[in-house]
Amino acid sequence: MASPHPDPRGSRDTAPTCRWCRSTQGDVVLDLGDQPPADLFPAGDDPGPDPVHPLRMWLCASCGLAQLAEDPTTPDEPRGAEPQALVDQARDAVARVEAAGLVPAGGGTVTEFGSPHGGSWLDLLAGAGLAEVTDGRPADVVVDCFGLMHEADQREGLAARAAATAPDGVLVLQFHTLAAIVADGGWNALRHGHFAYYSTPVLTAMLAEIGFEVTHALLFDLYGGTVLLAARRTGVPGPRDEVSVQTQIEREEGVGVRDAGVVAALGAAADASAGTLREHLAERRDAGRSVIGYAAASRAVPLLNRASVGPDLLPAIADGSPGKWGRRVPGVAVPIVGPEEVTRRAPDEVVLFVTDLLEEMRTRLPEVEAAGGRWVVVDPTVRVAPPRRT
Ligand SMILES: [Zn+2]
Repeated sequence: MASPHPDPRGSRDTAPTCRWCRSTQGDVVLDLGDQPPADLFPAGDDPGPDPVHPLRMWLCASCGLAQLAEDPTTPDEPRGAEPQALVDQARDAVARVEAAGLVPAGGGTVTEFGSPHGGSWLDLLAGAGLAEVTDGRPADVVVDCFGLMHEADQREGLAARAAATAPDGVLVLQFHTLAAIVADGGWNALRHGHFAYYSTPVLTAMLAEIGFEVTHALLFDLYGGTVLLAARRTGVPGPRDEVSVQTQIEREEGVGVRDAGVVAALGAAADASAGTLREHLAERRDAGRSVIGYAAASRAVPLLNRASVGPDLLPAIADGSPGKWGRRVPGVAVPIVGPEEVTRRAPDEVVLFVTDLLEEMRTRLPEVEAAGGRWVVVDPTVRVAPPRRT
């Protein structure tokens, strides 16, 4: 669908320009078609049509940065409740940063470039002796946890973080590595407002270009592979762990994070996810089985749109947020209802759109399985959870 407002920042008809190196050479490695903003939940009686925008990942052939091809929207970033996994990871990360000697002995200052989704390390870092900068001066430690990816202009974004770092300070960047996204078939990581998808080799090279060398690469399980890089200005003395950096670079190069042919496997993964979901729901409908969804999460939106799943296949999605009740999923008209509907409808199947919630939901809604119903997860592909033995 042609946009009525041609956007100089890119459309399907113009070649993307790299958000880092400004090259126009590259490949579209994942194309999810026209997608509504994942965080726009229209009122249930809003007939639509909802706005849609191209959602494509482009891999720069010059610098290797994976990025959003177009920048058509400025989505409101949801500041939902912080998942426990993120809280735990932050504690773990700060402990490892401290153990690596990256926090100045005797204390110092910190500036945080936070994620618009929320989740701050400042309280934890205060416990490690770091006070937040309040006078605008460069900090001893600059922390960016999933923040940089939200910058449309990556060169400006990284420059701002470098400028906030004291001459002998440490810049800490944490990201969900493209290597894990590719290895897991995690096509759902692609979304409007998330402009860049880093890998360790590419971000290390970006930092080198602005005069920073990576001294530590710490790997965490979060999201199947979250990496924390610590960097200092080149030549500035300080603790370093070159083995960790080299190991992580080799590991990710081995996955093929700069290889458009490899990263393009995400497209096949997207097709498989959408295809199996649609097939599964159609089969249940034809068999006369009742189904309800759970968790109208933003990640469910591209999946349902990609699979063209409407109320004929999925009559409703229950969600814990009262603000979403009475609304519907954008693009497809699946209504959002309260969790009590799961109990009331006693469905044969609850399709869960946030896999991580499986154990928690089974505990909170034991009546589903007690009545013979089953939980089904869909991310990345459809899987029926075996009945719980009680
Ligand atoms: Zn580039």
